[in-house]
Amino acid sequence: MQRRHPWVFESSIDRGRADLGETVRVEAADGQFLCWAAYSPESQIRARAWSFDEAERIDAAFFERRIARALAMRRRLPIASDALRLVHGEADGLPGLVVDRYGDTLVVQFASAGAERWKAPLAELLLNATGLSRLYERSDASSRGLEGLPAVTGWLSGDGPTEIVIREHQWRLSLDVAVGHKTGYYLDQRDNRKAFADAVRQYGCQEVLNCFSYTGGFSVAALAGGASQVISVDSSAPALARATAHVALNGFDPAHHQALDADVNQTLRSFIAEGRQFDAIVLDPPKFAPTAAHAERAARAYKDINRLGLMLLKPGGLLFTFSCSGGIPPDLFHKIVAGAGMDAQADGYILARVGATPDHPQTIYFPEGEYLKGLLILKA
Ligand code: SAH
Repeated sequence: MQRRHPWVFESSIDRGRADLGETVRVEAADGQFLCWAAYSPESQIRARAWSFDEAERIDAAFFERRIARALAMRRRLPIASDALRLVHGEADGLPGLVVDRYGDTLVVQFASAGAERWKAPLAELLLNATGLSRLYERSDASSRGLEGLPAVTGWLSGDGPTEIVIREHQWRLSLDVAVGHKTGYYLDQRDNRKAFADAVRQYGCQEVLNCFSYTGGFSVAALAGGASQVISVDSSAPALARATAHVALNGFDPAHHQALDADVNQTLRSFIAEGRQFDAIVLDPPKFAPTAAHAERAARAYKDINRLGLMLLKPGGLLFTFSCSGGIPPDLFHKIVAGAGMDAQADGYILARVGATPDHPQTIYFPEGEYLKGLLILKA
């Protein structure tokens, strides 16, 4: 707390209680003020700090200031898209609040008891601050359950189609804010898709395998980079249908893309059995380790797909490998990939270490905020 970390764990609280989302004053054992926080009676994270300033009142004006600060920061960022994250929870001093903008539509997640308590004023402030009129609620992340909150989705303001087409770099992508993953799309990979397009072009990659493709963001990037044969693998049929649509939407020849509705693990193994080889492979799996408690099992799963990926790469090929697990820190991820390289008997140069786009900022006080990390590797 004194280090401005925004979480107070249940185990560190001696006494005191409050209602769901109520603002509480958090004090040290000697009575010294620590922060104003939102109380969450059921969560292990029993309180989330709103402010470390004793003089600050937690009211609508407070939230207006925080939202203004978050929006001002985004205006200064170089974001090559009309879709971006405007508020990133703890990093923006608004624990549990996630706000994404897709063109003219805001999509909001109220993921904590505190954010839930302030839902109505927050919605109004967000509409005022952005000048938009469409706001869709996607409070259906699994973390809501930990806070004792039910899943809720639907329009909070405005209405109409939930299908939206956004621009990302020089390509266009469609998504449905009502049913897409997260709030509709993985905005945190925006710049890594561009980096991939550039690398595919730079290294002349022709045959590309995009594993855990979702709606094919990295596949479109590969085609934009000049790849002649791209395979998107995912276990979600609707996501793959969109990937196929995205190839056409961006003017690429459908013959250059194949959508494979399959399990990535099995696909990698059968490609190895068939003697297939690729010039570039993307591995962007779902969160194998949501928390550090899952790290060991997750490490084995990461190592396995990376080993298979490295085996399937031609010498001189590119591996763009990611982990979005908060429970796997960057140095551990690096070690896992090194272990995979040893098993695959492959050498690799690290061309780049990457993270989430800057509209998903990290702050100096909240190491848990560093969830997405990636390595761009050139196989020797
Ligand atoms: N790279 C994507 C995001 C990937 S999210 C992008 O840039 O947008 C992870 C994806 O993995 C999800 O689409 C999910 O459907 C898929 N997935 C999860 N487990 C899988 C498995 N075992 N085999 C294939 N796909 C899987």
